[in-house]
Amino acid sequence: MGFGRRVRIKTAEEVELIRESSLLVGKTLAAVAEHIQPGVTTLELDAVAEAFIRDHGAEPGFKGYGGFPNSLCTSVNEAVVHGIPNNRPLEEGDVVSVDCGVLKNGFYGDSAYTFAVGDISPEVQRLLDVTKECLDLAIEQAVVGKRIGDIGWACQTHAERHGYGVVRELVGHGLGKDLHEAPEVPNFGRRGNGPRLMEGMVLAIEPMINLGRREVQQESDGWTIVTADRKVSAHFEHDIVVRSGKAEVLSSFEAIEEVLNKRSVKS
Ligand code: MG
Ligand code: MG
Repeated sequence: MGFGRRVRIKTAEEVELIRESSLLVGKTLAAVAEHIQPGVTTLELDAVAEAFIRDHGAEPGFKGYGGFPNSLCTSVNEAVVHGIPNNRPLEEGDVVSVDCGVLKNGFYGDSAYTFAVGDISPEVQRLLDVTKECLDLAIEQAVVGKRIGDIGWACQTHAERHGYGVVRELVGHGLGKDLHEAPEVPNFGRRGNGPRLMEGMVLAIEPMINLGRREVQQESDGWTIVTADRKVSAHFEHDIVVRSGKAEVLSSFEAIEEVLNKRSVKS
């Protein structure tokens, strides 16, 4: 997929519009979270998301993008990203990465969260926790004066310290009027390498971390990326804007985690 070459620095007005789209993605994922349980299908989750997005005056950002058929990418267990929603019921112990994009006022939001379906093994829970930590550590590097390689370095170092594989073939990206803009944001890298980070760059940072080896393959559906060793993979994504001192996170997991906390108290 072409990301283009030119990095588009965003104005304050543009950042606010991307924030609005990014926050809508978080709320959509929270609506999806209400429905995640054994027995639900990813097509049902997709219908929840599409209705929610349209009810909020936006368009699904993924539907039709490059020919993708749905509003969500739902990637279960060994699927890393780009899974197509289907009729298979989720089962107790599964994990599902739900990646969602919206287009509103001409700007995209793009965020992903990996959910546990019922009770999952401690080993897989640890993978989810560490992948989220990778995202936070990567975001800490997204400040003026650092480089793209610092982001990848922070993610890679943390994941590999835990013995996990860092996917190389798919990367984060710039975000704005296009879903995928320059620069590419790999989840691996060397400190001080790559393009310089500048005030007002908007990036989607999205670690994809494998319980086993880092190699991946594409399924015959032409979309779904799976781990070559068929071990579980996790994926979390935030949209951020590069600032001096500290990046500003435009998307939010708050609504999602409110739903998850409420549900865990109930059971
Ligand atoms: Mg995404
Ligand atoms: Mg993305």
